[in-house]
Amino acid sequence: MLEAVQQPRSPGSGGRRQSRQFIDGAYGDAATGRTFDQVAPATGQVVGQVQEAGRDDVDRAVTAARQALNGPWGKLTLEERCQLLYKVADGITARFDEFLAAESEDTGKPYSLARHIDIPRGAANFKIFADTVRNVASKSFEMATPDGAGALNYAVHVPKGVVAVVCPWNLPLLLMTWKVGPALACGNTVVVKPSEETPATATLLGEVMNEAGVPPGVYNVVHGFGPDSAGAFLTEHPDVDAITFTGETGTGEAIMRAAATGVRDVSFELGGKNPGIVFSDCDLDKAIEGTMRSVFANCGQVCLGTERVFVHRPLFDEFVERLKVGAEALTLGHPTDEATQLGPLVSEVHRSKVRSYYDLAGQEGATVVTGGGIPQMPSDLAGGSWIQPTIWTGLPDDARVVREEIFGPCCHVSPFDDEDEVIARANDTNYGLAAALWTENVSRAHRVARQLDAGITWVNSWFLRDLRTPFGGMKQSGIGREGGEYSLEFYTETKNICIKL
Ligand code: NAD
Repeated sequence: MLEAVQQPRSPGSGGRRQSRQFIDGAYGDAATGRTFDQVAPATGQVVGQVQEAGRDDVDRAVTAARQALNGPWGKLTLEERCQLLYKVADGITARFDEFLAAESEDTGKPYSLARHIDIPRGAANFKIFADTVRNVASKSFEMATPDGAGALNYAVHVPKGVVAVVCPWNLPLLLMTWKVGPALACGNTVVVKPSEETPATATLLGEVMNEAGVPPGVYNVVHGFGPDSAGAFLTEHPDVDAITFTGETGTGEAIMRAAATGVRDVSFELGGKNPGIVFSDCDLDKAIEGTMRSVFANCGQVCLGTERVFVHRPLFDEFVERLKVGAEALTLGHPTDEATQLGPLVSEVHRSKVRSYYDLAGQEGATVVTGGGIPQMPSDLAGGSWIQPTIWTGLPDDARVVREEIFGPCCHVSPFDDEDEVIARANDTNYGLAAALWTENVSRAHRVARQLDAGITWVNSWFLRDLRTPFGGMKQSGIGREGGEYSLEFYTETKNICIKL
């Protein structure tokens, strides 16, 4: 049963939030179906209930998406579609504080971060991809024919169909809209499966879609887990035309197996174990500041973050000392406190995983420069999944802590002696998502950047993102590129039309 109810407003301001399915423009009936608890990672308190989708709910969502595609949404002109997406962007901005509260409560991320990154990017993803698609030029080719009249070929982009969007918990609104924005701009309809840890903003976006006048069925949300739950039901569904996924590499393998049935297309943004390389000719203040952000932002839960830092030997001791001072000065605290720089990890389960690496680092013989444990928090936060920012040195490159993605506020720092050596060591990983280089030598910057196995390499910066550029990973960090016109390669079919003149 579906009814057109709204979500309770202002999550975190009293009353438990209910995250229900959003199918065909309506929220699920609270009285039906299984639910699971939603826990705020900052406090460990249950703050809401999430309605878990069964196979039949997922089927209804996919059917609604198909009907919208064949019906009202498919009949809109490109211009009409883009105007609706601008309204969605404005709708997110108009309800900025609600999105901010919901995102922060779900993830524990500080307001100071989400206010500047997650929520504005959530709105921008609709505007920028509407702009991109409106401005796409079509290629044409004139050819000779035996009768001399010739023929004209031209390429058109048509929507791929119903797209499944499976999302992680680290940047829930930002990463979901990074997929939903281009998918809808290209004329597809979507069924979104948010992470079970962070259901709130995807659910809230349903209201914004309705307020903007987006036809029912264009944007659908099903909640639940991965295997034997909504994630698997959705990716196995035969009427889904393409699957776009952000998450762990192992989950990507499982989804790829599901996508093999029916030869469905996939776009994957997966894990990373990204290097930061600090040359002795860098501006050290910038390198310290940038490395601090790339290691500790969002409590280290950023796929593009740096977990392996390589420092030119002459700078090594000073760099480690200054990074330590910076890490120890970070302010941990309630996410709503604007002075807070570091929130908790997303869940107790994830904290157990990160802690197991903190323990492993000791077993593998690391020197703990700072951190390595659980911080003392005030009583109202004591039940949260807090962890200390941590820096290690002294491990060989084949230590598990140096090879495996941890996804916490931690890094290993090791010295290097020359350029070829550090390139080889930085590339000695199964991943290839991002890299950060710190050098004032422009030739070196170009030379090293092009040799690194990374979908994106930053020089003297980190997390600068122009949404028109290609984004994606090499090796086991992903398949395909999204961003700007690159997104059209996944979200549309390119057809050739040949007209005899
Ligand atoms: P995850 O793979 O555990 O889960 C992601 C989503 O997949 C969730 O919605 C989950 O319910 C679903 N899922 C799990 N198993 C499934 C299955 N068998 N079938 C269908 N769906 C399934 O990832 P996470 O822990 O939420 O996110 C952290 C990971 O995401 C890290 O590895 C990080 O590097 C990666 N990440 C990558 C990027 C990128 O752009 N490359 C961005 C953000 C996060």
